[in-house]
Order: sequence, then C-alpha cells, then structure tokens
Amino acid sequence: MLLMKFDVVIIGGGLVGAGLALALRNGGLGVALVEARTPAPLPPDDAWDSRIYAVSPGSAAFLQDVGIWPALAANRLTPVHEMAIFGDDDAACLDFSAYDAGLPELAWIVENGRLQAAAWRMLKRRTRPVRTFCPAECASIAWDESRAELRLADGSVLQAALIVGADGIHSWVREQAGIDTEQRAYGQMGVVANFSAQNSHRHVARQWFRRDGVLALLPLPESRVSMVWSTDEAHARTLLAVPGAELCDRVMQASGHALGALQLVTQPAAFPLRFVHAKKLVQSRIALVGDAAHGIHPLAGQGVNLGLRDARELAVTLLGRGPELDCGDPLLLGRYERARKEDILATELATDGLHRLFGSPHPTLMRWRNLGLEITNRLPLLKNQLMRHALN
Ligand SMILES: Cc1cc2nc3c(=O)[nH]c(=O)nc-3n(C[C@H](O)[C@H](O)[C@H](O)COP(=O)(O)OP(=O)(O)OC[C@H]3O[C@@H](n4cnc5c(N)ncnc54)[C@H](O)[C@@H]3O)c2cc1C
Repeated sequence: MLLMKFDVVIIGGGLVGAGLALALRNGGLGVALVEARTPAPLPPDDAWDSRIYAVSPGSAAFLQDVGIWPALAANRLTPVHEMAIFGDDDAACLDFSAYDAGLPELAWIVENGRLQAAAWRMLKRRTRPVRTFCPAECASIAWDESRAELRLADGSVLQAALIVGADGIHSWVREQAGIDTEQRAYGQMGVVANFSAQNSHRHVARQWFRRDGVLALLPLPESRVSMVWSTDEAHARTLLAVPGAELCDRVMQASGHALGALQLVTQPAAFPLRFVHAKKLVQSRIALVGDAAHGIHPLAGQGVNLGLRDARELAVTLLGRGPELDCGDPLLLGRYERARKEDILATELATDGLHRLFGSPHPTLMRWRNLGLEITNRLPLLKNQLMRHALN
C-alpha cells in the first residue's frame, strides 16, 4: 500500500476545486487534487465552446490571485457593460449598467473549456505544482478525530487533515459523508449554443423571462453570442432536434429580433437542471464547496460564482488558522460554514424564487412579476443592492 500525506485532499478538479487547490498551494499547504476525468487540452483558436460562464468581478479577482485569469487569452474574455432583463409582456424591462455603477464591467463571459484548460495548466506548472491524481477513481473515505483517509481504486491511500468535496452536483464525497440534501429536478434543461449575430451585441447581456423558460444571449468576442435557454425538457429536446436554421429562427423570434439575423456557430447541447441544497457544509474532517454543496438554477448565471466564493472563504479560513490548529479542526470548519451560510441561502432563495415566479402561468402572478421588474427598475437603491450582490 502506498501512503501519502497532505494537509488537504480535494476531490474534483472543476473550476472550484482547481481554484481552491491553487489558493491553498500558494499559501504553502501540502495539497492533493483528485479528478476522475482526464482534462481536455486547450481548444484550438478557431474552436468555440457552447458552455460559458458569466464570471463576476469578485470571481475574476479570485481567479487572478490564483493565477488562472492571467493564463487566459485576453481576446477570449468578453466584458459585459450592461444587462437587460425583459419580462413576458413585451414591455417590462430591468437594466443594469456598469457606467451608472461607476465600474469598468459588470461581468466577463468566458468559455468553460478555456477556463478549465488554464486552471489545469496552472496546477501542472513546473514551479510548485499541485500533486494531482488524474484520472483517478475514488474507492472509499475513512476518518477519525485526527485525520481523514482517501483510498483510491489503485490501492494508494491519501491521508490528510481535511478532505474537500468539490466533485459537483452528484457529489460522491457528500454521499460518503452521509450529508443530507434537499433536492429536486427542475424538469428543465439548459440548452446552450453559440451564434454569430447580424447586429452588434454592444457588450449587453440580454435575458428574457418567457412563458417557455428563460432565454439568455450573452456577448462573446466580435459579433458572437452565447445562448443559455432554460426550458422544459420536451421543448429542450425539440430545440436540439430541429435543423440549425430553424433553431436560429426560434431564437430570433424568442429574443424579439434584438440582434438581427443569427447564424449557428456551435452545435446545441443541453444540461439537466437540478436544485440541490446540502444541509451541512462540513462534517468531521470533510468540507463541501461548489455544486457539491449547492446546485442552483442558471437563470442568474451565479452557480460557479457562488462556488468560487466558497473556495475563497475556505482558503482564507485555512490559511489564517494559526499554528495550533490543523486544517480539519472543527473550529475552522464551523467558521467556514457560518461564513458561507447567508450568501448561499440568499442566492438559492433568489434564483429559486425567480424560477417559481416566472414559471407560473397564473394571470395575477404574471401581472405582478412584470410590474415587479418595472418597479425595481425605478428604484435605484434596490437596483444597486441587487447589483452589488451579483458583483461579488
Ligand atoms: C446550462 C448551464 C449553464 C450554466 N451557466 C452558468 C453561468 O453562466 N455562470 C455560472 O456561474 N454558472 C453557470 N452554471 C453553473 C456552473 O456550471 C456550475 O455551478 C459549476 O460548473 C460548478 O463548478 P464545480 O467545480 O463545483 O463543479 P463541476 O464543474 O461539476 O466540477 C466537478 C468536477 O469533479 C469531478 N468529479 C466528479 N465526481 C468525482 C469523483 N468521484 N472523483 C473525482 N472527481 C470527480 C468531475 O469530473 C468534475 O471535473 C451553469 C450550469 C448549467 C447546467
């Protein structure tokens, strides 16, 4: 049996797990990262990824600190200067502007594949690499008061003061730790595809709350836009099945021809949407971050931002622990959980609430939700508060 010792073992090398590993490694801790799938190499320049992230300024600052942001090609980072949100009565609109807020941008739109490739390049770099086990299959976790042990399928054992579950919405770590969840399928899928648009997007992120779901068209370099259409499963399957020209027509109509004619750049793909709330973020020598702790509806584009805020908080907690505590000390884990509770709950309530509000066919609710958008648009203080939360 090969036994290796670390301060922290992170399971899951998505953006949240990789970001946390880099933050801890930069702080001098012994870190191992275990990932099931071999990471894809950096896509060629002419390849476009349908799956994108809307990265908040706060997340961009964290990714900058851990070295992932500087490893991205500047010409694939698209700033969002304005957001325009439309109701389903063809009149209600809520808009946010970076200029009004005195900020350079409200968010950045970045392709998932490029972010992942940059993260893995940083993990593997020659100076102070993170010890990665990839592709690796986890077999079991055991823990007692003083340490946790991860056994891999090849027989090696990774011992640490703390094991972090960053292994996504179907988290194996969460299951091993017996952490209860509240879960429900939204009965929707997120259909994603990129288009090239006739009219300039002018760096505006546009979103339509429609009776058949939420359609977002987010700016990419030049005249391209990335679509996330969260819609019921039958409609999602239709969108995947229709010929490209018909998909373009449907998106043009649903978006009120805001960007003129559209041409498909990438084949559409779809992801099932699920609400998951882990009832605890920590357990003896175990902590959860990212989708392993909370899966939310993508209508506010906040999923990965919420996860990166977990990673940032856990890193700050562990690196500031003082010499008398090890990384899995219950005091530290309790501190991390308390610090993250409010943000997670507020974001879950907001995204879930909006989904329910705009998913309802009730005529009174329909009138009120559009009125709500209009009223919010006229209340600068409320608008400012909403925006501040999204910028974190
Ligand atoms: C259609 C759609 C659009 C979205 N758009 C946005 C957006 O615009 N902005 C935004 O912020 N969020 C968005 N999200 C949400 C976002 O994708 C997730 O919140 C984010 O990917 C979570 O990151 P993560 O690192 O926690 O998990 P993941 O990205 O799921 O990564 C988990 C990693 O763990 C690995 N893993 C799993 N199990 C194991 C195991 N047993 N052992 C080892 N490794 C394992 C996986 O291979 C994977 O690499 C969207 C989601 C959907 C579905």
